[in-house]
Amino acid sequence: MTTGEKAPAYRAPSGWNALLPKRVAREQMPSERRFRNIVIGAGYTGLASARRLSELAPDDETLLLDATTIGEGAAGRNSGYLLINPGEPSAGAAQFAGDWAARQMALVQAGLDWLRELVARHAIDCNWQEDVPAITAAATPLGERTVRATRDRYEGWGIETREYPAAELRRILGTDYYRHGIQSLTRALVQPAALQRGLADSLPAGVTLVENTTVHEIGGAAPFTIRTSRGAFIADRVFVANNLHARAFGLAQDRMIGIYTYGAFTPELDRDQLDLLGDEPDWGALPAHRMGTTMRKTMGRLLIRSGDSYERELGPVHVRRMLTELYRNRFPALRVHDFEHVWGGLTAVTHNGAFLFGEARPGLFVSAGCGGAGITRGTIHGKLLAELACGAQSVLLSDRLAQKGPNWLPPEPLRALGAKAQIAWEQRLAGAER
Ligand SMILES: Cc1cc2nc3c(=O)[nH]c(=O)nc-3n(C[C@H](O)[C@H](O)[C@H](O)COP(=O)(O)OP(=O)(O)OC[C@H]3O[C@@H](n4cnc5c(N)ncnc54)[C@H](O)[C@@H]3O)c2cc1C
Repeated sequence: MTTGEKAPAYRAPSGWNALLPKRVAREQMPSERRFRNIVIGAGYTGLASARRLSELAPDDETLLLDATTIGEGAAGRNSGYLLINPGEPSAGAAQFAGDWAARQMALVQAGLDWLRELVARHAIDCNWQEDVPAITAAATPLGERTVRATRDRYEGWGIETREYPAAELRRILGTDYYRHGIQSLTRALVQPAALQRGLADSLPAGVTLVENTTVHEIGGAAPFTIRTSRGAFIADRVFVANNLHARAFGLAQDRMIGIYTYGAFTPELDRDQLDLLGDEPDWGALPAHRMGTTMRKTMGRLLIRSGDSYERELGPVHVRRMLTELYRNRFPALRVHDFEHVWGGLTAVTHNGAFLFGEARPGLFVSAGCGGAGITRGTIHGKLLAELACGAQSVLLSDRLAQKGPNWLPPEPLRALGAKAQIAWEQRLAGAER
């Protein structure tokens, strides 16, 4: 199976990864060419699958392949929010009915709990923080209504939510851009590239990770022939964990689209400038609209994430200009509005927010379709995929299997027309939440 679609190649390195010490990619080819399991993609999903396979069957050898280096994929480019939202991390929660939402949150919570345990067990130095204010903040009357409706919904689910009036937001965030906020369902904030590195570097002995190796084709039936940029391998079982790029293997081609979004880091700010970003040493601010802007004050810098583009990464000059404007709008008093790092990242979006999950055909397992909240959601989906393959049973797995898959999307050029029109419309609706 192959469609000729290429693995992602970004225009700029991840700002998070650039802040870490240099790391030597693992590129050494294994001496064996035959494996019990091959996992394609070493983001959160693939890392979780490979680890869990080895935990459940320590004698089975697993090969984990990634087209890029650890820290440079979407897993190392995101904003580092560990959320337990039942769906996408947009503020609007109205579409989630009570019992379904509770089950979804239990699923994502299990991903979070596993990550917390792994970070502690392997002493992963990823700036894991659970006591930092992480607020869904509204800048517009419409955003405020959404945030208040979300608060009501959370309360209906039995989740207590703190509210932040404008004055409190001003004190914490250092800006009067926002008018009302609620505590988000963020349960931790991390340095995502450091988390991904730590997870990769603490894999069990039965897992061999090889970076900078692109899988081009999954051939035949179990045992499969996996053709890569660096030769072929044989595997009894294959785990497709390369998210949007599962399409390259003919999976969910008519179910997922790629949306790029963009992040930037200021240089380290001096004390005066940091004081203009509010009283707290660190904070997170999520938008009240899904096309809005996310920010973090972290490690003496400001992180800003915003923008959405269909299937194509925007040019760096355009992105820098867009993010600078959003930064300046929120913090006009800062001396300069420079960025040290600006980058783009790709997410997989499905029409109904659902994943493609399960055994696509005998021996071929797939979990793809992770848009936002993929740190926790990707982790639990990867873990459960391994458990499914090994015949393990649990309430979480049966809950996961009972869920619907992604909805069908029309072919091109209709798909692009529809997606671009929707992005333009939602960006307009988002207004100053952008
Ligand atoms: C700017 C930005 C901000 C975000 N913020 C957050 C956030 O704050 N919190 C959150 O939870 N989520 C966030 N996300 C989403 C999150 O990063 C993704 O949901 C998550 O990375 C998905 O995990 P994954 O393992 O399924 O896929 P990925 O992380 O995309 O991993 C897939 C891997 O497969 C590899 N690959 C692709 N094709 C091939 C191939 N043919 N052969 C071999 N390897 C291949 C890729 O190199 C990649 O490393 C953000 C995303 C972006 C871009």
